[in-house]
Amino acid sequence: MRGKKHASRCLVCGGKVNISVKGLFDARFGAEGRYNVGECASCGLLQLAPLPSQGALKKLYQRYYNFGGSGKGAYTGARRLFFDSVLSRLWSFIDGDISFYDRKGSGRLLDVGCNEGRGLARYEKNGFQAEGLELNEKAASTASAAGFTVHTALLGEFRPAEPFDVVVLSNVLEHVLDPIELLEDASRVLKPGGELWISCPNAASWQRAFFSKAWINWHVPFHTAHFSGKNIRKLLDAAGFEVKKIKNESPALWFASSVVSKLFSRHGKPTTQMRNAMLMASLMLFTRGVLFPALWLGNLLGKGDCLVITARKK
Ligand SMILES: [Zn+2]
Repeated sequence: MRGKKHASRCLVCGGKVNISVKGLFDARFGAEGRYNVGECASCGLLQLAPLPSQGALKKLYQRYYNFGGSGKGAYTGARRLFFDSVLSRLWSFIDGDISFYDRKGSGRLLDVGCNEGRGLARYEKNGFQAEGLELNEKAASTASAAGFTVHTALLGEFRPAEPFDVVVLSNVLEHVLDPIELLEDASRVLKPGGELWISCPNAASWQRAFFSKAWINWHVPFHTAHFSGKNIRKLLDAAGFEVKKIKNESPALWFASSVVSKLFSRHGKPTTQMRNAMLMASLMLFTRGVLFPALWLGNLLGKGDCLVITARKK
């Protein structure tokens, strides 16, 4: 552990972290405990305070985190049907493509945290030779069974035979205890000039202020850090990347999840309403159909709920 990882020190710049949001709890899986988020006095990064140890975090994932849609419930079935349909492309055109499912290209692509390989299928379809990294053995074996090359390794210990043209970190960076190290590892496995595609929640989102403690992207204790367009630019620069583009998106699913969290979440209890397909679909359609001007304006002002970043290895 580097000194900068001390609980009261910023994960990115080592600055002093002051508590800014107190008493958050897990609004999805019902993990026990109250958590605080602090703000770095120097760079404005928001992070869990204190930070959990790697060991404690691993135990929390094993106990609570449901990997992908390995279940056979109605929600999982509805999700799978949707993702396999043409509606899915139309939806991501309107709602924003935060998983890079619609980017066409060629070359070798690495999806870090590929889960059961839904993304790998899309990247292959779009022209890439896609490989994945996945620590969860069950999810990794599902992706392998579908014919994909999946490595059960951390990015830090992964030594590919050939470098990649693209590395995808889709909602990954906000989960780790050392974001700089993760970016340096991404750089190591990329070709010079290779691209890094990142999506992560936007700490400068208007929805964060609007939903306050119920904002779905606090996602304690699993989200360790919350980036803004400004500080992620600095972080990428420090890790040897040139930012080509930062786009804001505001997925209807995230807005709907914050609404459900506000209405139903209780400490120590899983919020089962988040897996109610009818409820979530209705809320998402309402969000897209009625609230689109607010989402559009928020994105335009850099206050959308999700940052979608394209960077190039220098
Ligand atoms: Zn900082």
